[in-house]
Amino acid sequence: MKILNYINGELKEPAAGAYLDNYDPSIGQVYGQVPDSDSTDVADAYKAATAAQKGWENTPAEEKFKVLNAIAEGIDAKREEFALAESRDQGKPLWLSRNEMIRAAQNFRFYATAAMQFASESHAMENRAINYTLRQSIGVVGCISPWNLPLYLFSWKIAPALAAGNAVVAKPSEFTPATAFLLSEVCIQAGLPKGVLNIVHGLGPKVGQAMVEHPKIKAISFTGGTVTGKYIAATAAPMFKKLSLELGGKNPNIIFADADLDKAVKTTVNTSFMNQGEICLCGSRLLIEESVYEEVKNALIEEVKKLTVGDPMNDSTRIGAIVSKPHYEKVKSYIELAQEEGGKVLIGGQTVHPEGKENGWYIQPTIIEGLKAECRTNQEEIFGPVITIMPFKNEAEALEIANGTEYGLAATFWTNDLKRAHRLASELEFGIVWVNCWLLRDLRTPFGGVKSSGVGREGGWEAMRFFTEPKNVCIAL
Ligand code: NAD
Repeated sequence: MKILNYINGELKEPAAGAYLDNYDPSIGQVYGQVPDSDSTDVADAYKAATAAQKGWENTPAEEKFKVLNAIAEGIDAKREEFALAESRDQGKPLWLSRNEMIRAAQNFRFYATAAMQFASESHAMENRAINYTLRQSIGVVGCISPWNLPLYLFSWKIAPALAAGNAVVAKPSEFTPATAFLLSEVCIQAGLPKGVLNIVHGLGPKVGQAMVEHPKIKAISFTGGTVTGKYIAATAAPMFKKLSLELGGKNPNIIFADADLDKAVKTTVNTSFMNQGEICLCGSRLLIEESVYEEVKNALIEEVKKLTVGDPMNDSTRIGAIVSKPHYEKVKSYIELAQEEGGKVLIGGQTVHPEGKENGWYIQPTIIEGLKAECRTNQEEIFGPVITIMPFKNEAEALEIANGTEYGLAATFWTNDLKRAHRLASELEFGIVWVNCWLLRDLRTPFGGVKSSGVGREGGWEAMRFFTEPKNVCIAL
């Protein structure tokens, strides 16, 4: 597959004609080419975007609604093609890609309605004046996304940015460009006016950085690692750009003795290992109340034994390939580190070489116990099929361990005690708290993290507010 940039409504080679190899992680081999674009391509994309922006901003909401819906329908119509491309590019099981493609279409559909419904406030000052807030499009905005949920997260940014009347310069991860490329074809067919969305492929430090450094791209919505987020924040701050940063996590998953343990264990298999553990919301630190520690641990191990690791295209596969060689090496190095730190591997810990896919990058789902909450394994984001388990004595200790990292993205806990549910939900220092469930998403809710997990929120009106600039107009009566 040869990927092209999407600039000014056309599929284009990168200006310098350079390409990067794109790998199929299930076989560890190159299968395609991705543009190795640079600041010239970003400048072209900006030029097209800025020429298109006012026209798009002034397009009636109903027209925006129709085009965004047409994009959603375009994704739905090619769902299987998109899902196959996503799994091949990313390594995730095909059944999961199919679900994610449904969500990618939903993102466009959801924000199509937001374009129709978005409204602003008015504040009356008795008989003296009336204030109203104009929420105006920002202009040209940048969207940068990671490799773990490629189209799902790419569309999660682009759809609200467009719904709010901006023109967009967007960059998907260089590791997973395929579905963003298919999206450009869908946008052309859906009749999105040229230049309104521009997709530039290539490396973060080249294309992403050129976007962040571009003086006229006035807002950046970024999802990715915390280290990259810090760098982007430092670059953008002197230019006073608006920033939304969705970063890493080290999420706790807490099981209390009073919970529905069977349900907690079954869901915890997903919380821990769905998408090879490569979801920013996965619970990588499993905390289990002491009195049920052995019971829950053993039940979980039995469930994990049932998970098949292998070819993403097989229906029976629960855990596919790790996205890239460097990431595979990183995850392996954390399994080694955990053992050096005194951890005991209860299950997994090894690489897997499925028949016919021996050179792919596969790692068994891994559970490690015996580590202190403060050790590196329990403090640093691994982002793979590796969790640690720790016992706790009481709620206070669970809370202390849960809050005891630099991250604050998502916490999950399991209890049937209603008072505890409300108390703990309020005390956990996280942007998202799931009680007796995990990854149950309503697109209207605020989405994002605190501490080193990010700044700002996506989702619902939060994203529409991020992608608009509020202006107060005060009229004396
Ligand atoms: P990454 O930070 O390496 O890359 C993310 C994106 O940023 C890519 O498109 C990359 O090319 C680009 N980039 C890299 N360097 C850049 C630079 N200097 N300037 C501008 N852009 C640059 O992250 P990743 O490895 O692709 O993704 C994994 C990380 O993403 C994990 O830490 C995970 O927790 C996080 N994540 C967070 C959320 C969330 O909602 N909070 C969701 C998914 C993933």
